This record gives sequence, structure tokens and C-alpha cells, in this order.
Amino acid sequence: MKSVILIAPPAAGKGTMASMLSKTFNMPHISTGDLLRNEMSNQTSLGLKIKDDMEKGNLVSDEIITELLINRLTKPDCENGYILDGYPRNVEQAYIYEDILDKLDKEIGVVIFLDIDKATALYRMSGRIVCATCGASYNLNNVELQPKVEGICDDCKSPLNKRSDDNVDTFNNRFDTYINKTSSLINYYQEQGVLERISIDASSTANSTFEAVKKILKR
Ligand code: AMP
Repeated sequence: MKSVILIAPPAAGKGTMASMLSKTFNMPHISTGDLLRNEMSNQTSLGLKIKDDMEKGNLVSDEIITELLINRLTKPDCENGYILDGYPRNVEQAYIYEDILDKLDKEIGVVIFLDIDKATALYRMSGRIVCATCGASYNLNNVELQPKVEGICDDCKSPLNKRSDDNVDTFNNRFDTYINKTSSLINYYQEQGVLERISIDASSTANSTFEAVKKILKR
């Protein structure tokens, strides 16, 4: 299957869609945010370097992201496609990614833009809890996305917690960063003819959005 890039404002549900796609189509879910959080929780020297930017909701440098991404994309499970969640995040990263694809002899695949307004995204952020061990994401504001046992990950049974950057101030900064840096990717990929848009509003469920994603991928 084609690889998928998910672009959206923070807390739109990229991680949830990526995880549903990954389970359904047996393709790896690559979240650059998870790769970075992993470095932080393992307290590597890289983890210490990125902590401040992550906690403020600023973008981490393109150099760091490029290195982490190349390491991940060259693993054997990426051979037949993957789902990118949170990358690219600016036009410079889109150019870098094209070079990476050329070198690895891979195609871009399809870019799906989850279009959501700020108030709906903020509401989703306020209910989000995540598993630091396996990266699974749940939402207390959405019956479909609640864990089976309160506070425990369905998949790996580790405790669930709020992300340290899921607070209103950081959310506002992440949303501004999205508008100022990431949203220009929408025109960029539209001009390349690879962009598909799905509109999400307060009534959209994870399942209804997933159906829309699958319909695009079946075309
Ligand atoms: P996410 O898990 O996608 O919401 O990302 C959480 C945080 O990780 C962001 O607010 C950034 O600080 C950082 N981050 C994730 N992906 C990238 C990326 N592609 N480029 C730069 N920073 C990133």
C-alpha cells in the first residue's frame, strides 16, 4: 500500500488515525513526536537537548528530526510503506523528505490533511491521555476512545497520563506554530496533486474519520 502522511493541527486526531491505519493495514506508525518523547523518557543527551522546545511547543531542529527519521525509515518494517504522523512539519522538512525518498527509492504516497478548527482541537486536547510506553492515545472526552480500564493502556497495560505539552498555553503555541509553519504544506502538497482533505467538526467520531481515510486509500 501507499505510504501516508498525516497533516493536521495539534490534537486533531493524527495519532489516533495513524494507529487505526497501522493496525488495519499492518504498516508501521511513525510519529516524530513519539520518537522525540522516547529520547526524553530515556534521558539521552538528545532528549535533554530537545526538552525545552518540546515543553514549550516549539519545533525541534530539522537536523535532529532528519537524523531520527532516517534511522527509523531504514528499518526493514518500512519497506512496504508506513504512516507518518507529525512529519513533515514545515516546507524545509518537505524538501529534506524528498531527498530522503530519492535516496531510499521510495514514493511520497498520499498526504491526508485533517481540517479541524481550533476550539474543537482544544477540546480534544483537554481529554487526551497517552501511554508513555507504547505511544497509544486515548480520550476521556470521547466514549469511543476511552481505555477499557481507567488509567491503564489497553495494549500494553502501562499507566496512562497527560502529555506534559497538553496544557492550554503550550497548545496555543503549538497551534500558532502549526499556522505559521505547517499550514503552508497544504498548498505545497495540493500543487503536487497528492493532497486529500477531510473536514472534522465536533460531531466527527474516530470511526467516521477513519472511514473517510479508508475511502481515500481505496481509490
Ligand atoms: P506531536 O506528538 O506530533 O504533537 O509533537 C509534539 C512535539 O514534538 C511538537 O510540539 C514539537 O516540539 C516536536 N515535533 C514533533 N514532530 C516534529 C517535527 N517533524 N519537527 C519538529 N518538531 C517536531
